[in-house]
Amino acid sequence: MTLRPPTERPRVLQMQGIAKVFGGTTTALRDMNLTVNEGDFISLLGPSGCGKSTALRLIAGLMQPTQGRILWEGGRGKDDLGVVFQEPTLMPWATVARNVFLPFRLRGQSYDSVKDRIAEILTLVGLEKFADSYPRELSGGMKMRVSIARAMVTNPRLILMDEPFAALDEITRQKLNIDLLTLKAKIGCTVIFITHSVFESVFLADRVVVMAARPGRVSAEVAVDAPYPRDATFRTSAEYAAHTQVVSAALLQAIEEHA
Ligand code: ADP
Repeated sequence: MTLRPPTERPRVLQMQGIAKVFGGTTTALRDMNLTVNEGDFISLLGPSGCGKSTALRLIAGLMQPTQGRILWEGGRGKDDLGVVFQEPTLMPWATVARNVFLPFRLRGQSYDSVKDRIAEILTLVGLEKFADSYPRELSGGMKMRVSIARAMVTNPRLILMDEPFAALDEITRQKLNIDLLTLKAKIGCTVIFITHSVFESVFLADRVVVMAARPGRVSAEVAVDAPYPRDATFRTSAEYAAHTQVVSAALLQAIEEHA
């Protein structure tokens, strides 16, 4: 799927002047502004404590900002979000297919009415042969695929991912990076992805939002204008190296700003 430039795509949401203060003293986020357009892949990159998870939790509506507002284009419905955490958080007593069924079950839908969609998403994440397996029978990477399938099965408008691959080995992580981009292109979703890794942020995103800590804030936004699809050859390209240099420099500056 070829994406139009971000400014020509419909807007999903806008964070306007968002601040979040905990306990009256900890400014987890200060004056955060972010526009998310349909089809964006945005990486939030920064050191621990810079407010990445707070930003995600605010977007998810799990808590309210102290200041500012989040405007959803066309309003927010219950099916707007899919969330993937670092831990796959699967139900150990349920099969892969039944784990992926969970968001539908929570909506009161029957398994039979959505079983074709579950089979389809399991094929897209390469797990069609494991529908009847249990989580204990799967590798860490496969469990994460189940978690991604579960987040995407309902076709949400926006997928929030909080360091989903941080606990995986490097090879698995690189493979899942490619598979995530392939999946995103196939189903056409919008992603906000938290990471500590400059390399991962550049590989995945068309926009890297670099954040600084104490107080948590956006320090820079770097466009990664390398075209998709991106595969393993992108990792060894001069273009990739150039972008990682720019983002590394922006991250270093973000860290030094309050050193
Ligand atoms: P990151 O995800 O970038 O590591 P967080 O959003 O988790 O950063 O945290 C940003 C800051 O807010 C940190 O100083 C953290 O200690 C603080 N913080 C986060 N959540 C809470 C909370 N529920 N209560 C108090 N302080 C919090």
